[in-house]
Amino acid sequence: MRAMTLTAIGRPLVETRSPDPEPGPYEVRLRVLACGVCRTDLHVVDGELPAVRPPVIPGHEIVGRIDALGEGVEELELGQRVGVPWLGHVCGCCAYCRAGRENLCDAPLFTGYTRPGGFATATVADARFVFPLGEEGEDTALAPLLCAGLIGWRSLVRAGNAWRLGLYGFGAAAHIVAQVARWQGRTVYAFTRPGDEAAQGFARTLGAVWAGGSDQAPPAPLDAAILFAPAGDLVPLALAQVRKGGRVVCAGVHMSDIPSFPYSLLWEEREVVSVANLTRRDGDDFLPVARRAGVVTAPVVYPLAAANQALDDLRRGRFQGAAVLVP
Ligand SMILES: [Zn+2]
Ligand SMILES: [Zn+2]
Repeated sequence: MRAMTLTAIGRPLVETRSPDPEPGPYEVRLRVLACGVCRTDLHVVDGELPAVRPPVIPGHEIVGRIDALGEGVEELELGQRVGVPWLGHVCGCCAYCRAGRENLCDAPLFTGYTRPGGFATATVADARFVFPLGEEGEDTALAPLLCAGLIGWRSLVRAGNAWRLGLYGFGAAAHIVAQVARWQGRTVYAFTRPGDEAAQGFARTLGAVWAGGSDQAPPAPLDAAILFAPAGDLVPLALAQVRKGGRVVCAGVHMSDIPSFPYSLLWEEREVVSVANLTRRDGDDFLPVARRAGVVTAPVVYPLAAANQALDDLRRGRFQGAAVLVP
């Protein structure tokens, strides 16, 4: 197999070749058809997540076709198209797993971080953590649903019954969440980097009633805001725009420090919460919703060998929508 591998933190990925991996018990091997590029991949490459141990093959929005089954795999079959998300494995026995909160498992494995990822022509995944995708839809259009979509969905659920919803950072996740939120009858307000008219225009085409800079006030107070941009200074800005009892949801796996702010921004039962990882239930809930809501993703396709370019373009905000690698 061929892969784009992180061999040292902060260095560009290197093209590596190795024999195809063999699936262990309860694992499947996939031919990768497409793999999305997520901001979390940048955090892995930059060593911003704890204990990144190269060599690592990033990539956790994998669409692939099963070409080998490990021992004990019964629910999946050869030739089936499946998706592999960020949550790669959980222990099943810690207090969180037993309470149905496997996203908070004490001993998890994550795809493209502590398990091999999808910036490759082949990969292996724990069969219990893959989602059957059926044959409807393009590989490249489905890939962004597997993290941007799933984490976006979990954040949207966490935002609660918020009819006026602000989205800070209009990238891969927001462009999917905006469509689902609109389909649910919510009103979407998009906040981008000040002056980023391309992103604001993109948000309007996806149904945002208002799009502006993160330093601007929307025309009406928000019931909730979801922060997809990894910038802690957005937290007080967003708190200032939510109504009494409103909520600010931090969706990223990593965020720069939150500056101190006056208590009056939190007063009146405003809340700041975070979203961590996903559960398999989120996938079972979200993937059918994405289909029913007619979510259309905007994949920007790169060949696998151009993974570094895709990461760099994501870092610099050079495209709208979601970057996807195709081997
Ligand atoms: Zn656990
Ligand atoms: Zn991700």
